[in-house]
Amino acid sequence: MEKRRLLISYAHPDDESFGLGAAIPKWIDDGVDVYLICATNGDVGFVPDALRGKFATVAELRLSELDCARQYLKFKDVFMLGYRDSGMPGSETAEHPDCLAYRWQHHPEDVAADVIEVMRRVKPQVVVTFNRYGGYGHPDHIAIQRATARAFERLRDEAAGNGGYSPQKLYYAAYPKWSMRMRIWRARLNGQDPRRMGINRDVDTLKSLEHIEPVHARISIAPYLDIWEKASRCHASQGGGRVTRTSRLLRRLLYSRQGFTRVYPKPNHSRVDEDDLFAKVDLNGRSRQTRV
Ligand SMILES: [Zn+2]
Repeated sequence: MEKRRLLISYAHPDDESFGLGAAIPKWIDDGVDVYLICATNGDVGFVPDALRGKFATVAELRLSELDCARQYLKFKDVFMLGYRDSGMPGSETAEHPDCLAYRWQHHPEDVAADVIEVMRRVKPQVVVTFNRYGGYGHPDHIAIQRATARAFERLRDEAAGNGGYSPQKLYYAAYPKWSMRMRIWRARLNGQDPRRMGINRDVDTLKSLEHIEPVHARISIAPYLDIWEKASRCHASQGGGRVTRTSRLLRRLLYSRQGFTRVYPKPNHSRVDEDDLFAKVDLNGRSRQTRV
């Protein structure tokens, strides 16, 4: 029987910790080999001068923060695709020809080919990426979601024609609706614009809420929230250090489970029917077409 392998395909150094910092150690404890694609070097994330430290560039700092997070999130391997961070939509940096969103827009097959190459090396049965809105609309998140979905499809088509490896399940990591509603409510209460949230002011929480998709799988992550906190703290330049006693308590009360939208095999309903992303995965190398 083959080992269970899961590939997370994300855009920036910090997406892995903020988003799945409790799910990753849970999978690893369950004996799953977890791999990460980090498509950009995080070049243009805003960094306060005080946190810049000894690093000459923001990218160097962000990559060192990812190294720090890897102490807690024990990936089997991390694949850096080396694209430039696009920064905020509409900004000058988003027009740089090496940035991920630009590359996806102008050379989508190249970006998909990079993801296909990693998938061929790792052979994950399960792949996780952002939802179609990139979680909160970041152009790099959307680009890596599209590239990952295309890579998944290409490998499935290829295997259907010639046999060989193909991934079996594709998921989007989900964000709970009530939690987004709470952020909007809190922003308004504090006199903030809910369309311009986050450290880089690029999070439109109203649109993010509109784009939340149904959850089909929920996994229990409560015992791993300490690890989430430690990994998130590594990304101090992106606000990861701001864990207060209240936010810790709230997280424990409210975020004991992580939801996922199943994209393939596509469910014909909008309810939770899995508590394990490897449910019905064939570990003997064959790919099942069964609808779950
Ligand atoms: Zn990101």
